[in-house]
Amino acid sequence: ATPTALLVGTGRGAQLGILIKGPEVLENTRRADTVLLDKTGTVTTGRMTLVGVHTADGTTEDEALRLAGALEHASEHPIARAVADAAQERLGGLPAVTGFRSIPGLGVRGTVDGRRVLAGRAALLAGPPVPPALAAVGAAAERAGRTAVTVAWDGQARAVLEVADAVKPTSAEAIAELRALGLRPVLLTGDNRLVAESVAAEVGIPAEDVIAEVLPEDKVATVQRLQAEGRTVAMVGDGVNDAAALAQADLGLAIGTGTDAAIEAADLTLVRGDLRSAADAIRLSRRTLATIK
Ligand code: ADP
Ligand code: MG
Repeated sequence: ATPTALLVGTGRGAQLGILIKGPEVLENTRRADTVLLDKTGTVTTGRMTLVGVHTADGTTEDEALRLAGALEHASEHPIARAVADAAQERLGGLPAVTGFRSIPGLGVRGTVDGRRVLAGRAALLAGPPVPPALAAVGAAAERAGRTAVTVAWDGQARAVLEVADAVKPTSAEAIAELRALGLRPVLLTGDNRLVAESVAAEVGIPAEDVIAEVLPEDKVATVQRLQAEGRTVAMVGDGVNDAAALAQADLGLAIGTGTDAAIEAADLTLVRGDLRSAADAIRLSRRTLATIK
């Protein structure tokens, strides 16, 4: 490969909103046969909003929002921002949180108003029982493609907050383009299976190509497993929780509007955050390398 032609490729990449770490990246871009797509912030906008508050008997919506809002105020997760913003808007100020801890891929916990509060996936709670009526509300929200944040304190789940995210308007088209280029798109997410399948259906990915409820540290293992099966894996992600998997992938693509950790770990950055740039990158590398050969 002549360096000149490769550099022309990277220059054209910049015009298309694709930043390439080095010309050698193009070779891996060309060989990829599978593309793992992170859900939140990659296929979806990641700009979440609180769309529902459901409480168990004896708990008011304000009380649930006050405790969950205070706790989530200390987290940087898009879900957390949606909850904290809505709580602040409705209640004005929020109490302080002490002993805050984030449990990646599961949720958060801390002490608010002298109460030990947990918020996140039902699996995070493990101990505190979830009243059947709340569990039913959570399941219905997930079937509709929304994330259910279960909130527990004083040893019991007392509320479910419904958080909605929207699929980016160009994601379905981008996924069709990737497929037309011969890649197999696979949705990879820490979110609930029902939510994941609902988003997948919206963008044209069959349920069999959805890998859900994956803890952040297991995203790397997923990439390795596919590589062991002989696949050449491209991965597109935006989060801190995607960084290790982006580094492990044969080709890591970071969403430019995402976190620095993802951008640093990736080979290539999609500046506009538009998934169609991933297809542009594949096309560009094939064309550039064809010119050389
Ligand atoms: P993704 O892979 O879709 O980017 P994450 O791995 O960041 O998602 O999170 C997986 C799941 O863990 C979320 O869908 C949510 O249910 C739960 N979760 C993570 N962080 C929080 C938080 N701060 N508050 C509530 N729930 C959370
Ligand atoms: Mg993400």
